[in-house]
Amino acid sequence: MFSLAKDRIEKSKLWTIVKRMPKGALLHCHLEAMVDFDWAIEEAFATEGVCITAAGPLVTPQQLQKTGFSFTYSKTNANDHGSVWTEGYVAGTPVTLSSAGGNFPGGGRQAFIEWVRSRCTMTPQEHVAQHEGPNEAWRKFLSCFPILGSLVYYEPIFRKFLRRLFKQLLDDGVYFVDMRSAFYTPYRRQGEEEFDADFFNYLDHMDEEIEKFKASEQGKDFWGARMIWTTVRQLDKRAVVKHMKQCIEMKLEFPELIAGYDLVGQEDMGRSLADLAPELFFFRKKCAESGVEIPFFFHAGETLGDGDSVDENLFDAILLGTRRIGHGFSLYKHPLLIDMVKDKRILVESCPVSNEALRLCGSIMSHPLPALLARGVPCSLCNDDPTIFGQHANGMSHDFWQALQGWQNLGLAGLGSLAENSVRWASYEDYGAKEWAQDVKDGSMGKGIRAQRLKEWIAKWERFCAWVVDEYGVDENLDPAE
Ligand SMILES: [Zn+2]
Repeated sequence: MFSLAKDRIEKSKLWTIVKRMPKGALLHCHLEAMVDFDWAIEEAFATEGVCITAAGPLVTPQQLQKTGFSFTYSKTNANDHGSVWTEGYVAGTPVTLSSAGGNFPGGGRQAFIEWVRSRCTMTPQEHVAQHEGPNEAWRKFLSCFPILGSLVYYEPIFRKFLRRLFKQLLDDGVYFVDMRSAFYTPYRRQGEEEFDADFFNYLDHMDEEIEKFKASEQGKDFWGARMIWTTVRQLDKRAVVKHMKQCIEMKLEFPELIAGYDLVGQEDMGRSLADLAPELFFFRKKCAESGVEIPFFFHAGETLGDGDSVDENLFDAILLGTRRIGHGFSLYKHPLLIDMVKDKRILVESCPVSNEALRLCGSIMSHPLPALLARGVPCSLCNDDPTIFGQHANGMSHDFWQALQGWQNLGLAGLGSLAENSVRWASYEDYGAKEWAQDVKDGSMGKGIRAQRLKEWIAKWERFCAWVVDEYGVDENLDPAE
């Protein structure tokens, strides 16, 4: 329903109000899917040496829809190496973007851009193909990540992308973001044909851009950004262990940037937390040996299933000490787990638009979050993957708008509570397990940065409410004769 409603949402009076709302912190989003596509593709055209490379010729409709391709950089390829749109194309040959765009069959550059868009976002047709079920939606969804990653993981574009992202978040009333990235698509420095072997430069450049933005006039209200390291859950034991070691190495290099650890990918198709338990215990041991603590922020329960392995991930996430749960879509069916989540003060990062796009619910009206809110489970709203799901904006206004419009029990106070929770559960700095629990419990009565941020948010919220009343308050003339 979301994709059909989006245009009308953005024309409503309520949209103007929700846009202006201080939303606090964005706690669940994947960096590759935070790309402002129209901007990024123009930036790629304007950046010297950016090319496209494919796993084979892109000629037939089938090839155009399925054959893998990505953006790359080539110094030597100033003109072109033949066309990717002909049968003679040799797999892996870089073709400059201007040549690929100009020669795109039947329309040139604009048609080329629309084709790329169709490969890295859910198309309008895909959005309404509910009968195809979640697996087909996931297949398309996952295929978007490497393309979007390759578009922005080149230094000159990457740096601008981050600055722009933080600015867009701030404009939407988001002051802090806990980002996730799969550390799977490789990174490339400016002018380098070879990919980096690791993610040192990637994180180094990210760190610099965060600090630069915070120090700028534009970004003075921005509280910051951190990164939850995520491993693709489809990987085998060896690959997971290697990735975990890399995470610890990077935590030692960038202690302020790395906030936590998680696993990503379709839960049904990948390995369950129970299956991953030996690796997760190994990770914990290695962290202790290295003198670092990298807490868990697991995706769990992103399913319609009841008692399947994804549903059971909720049990394991809680047992493994997760500080928040990504999605927790099936949590409402588990009274005992709900009590445990409340008792342990675990927050649910709920992503309603994402759940619609991945076919867990047809519209916001059938989303289970109200069931959790009614039972006092701490929750926040998040946007998950706005580029791919079609929000076409990096903030959270669409998710907040839908919640406000769809759930009569929520109201402005409910929206405020969800936003306040995001500020209360954000991972501003490193905390030990006990310290985290206490700090979250203390909230605005605590002593540290969290309490300070909560107070700042409350002041912003008060100002926002005053603005709503000034702007839209009923000033009704009850005596028209006067
Ligand atoms: Zn996610």
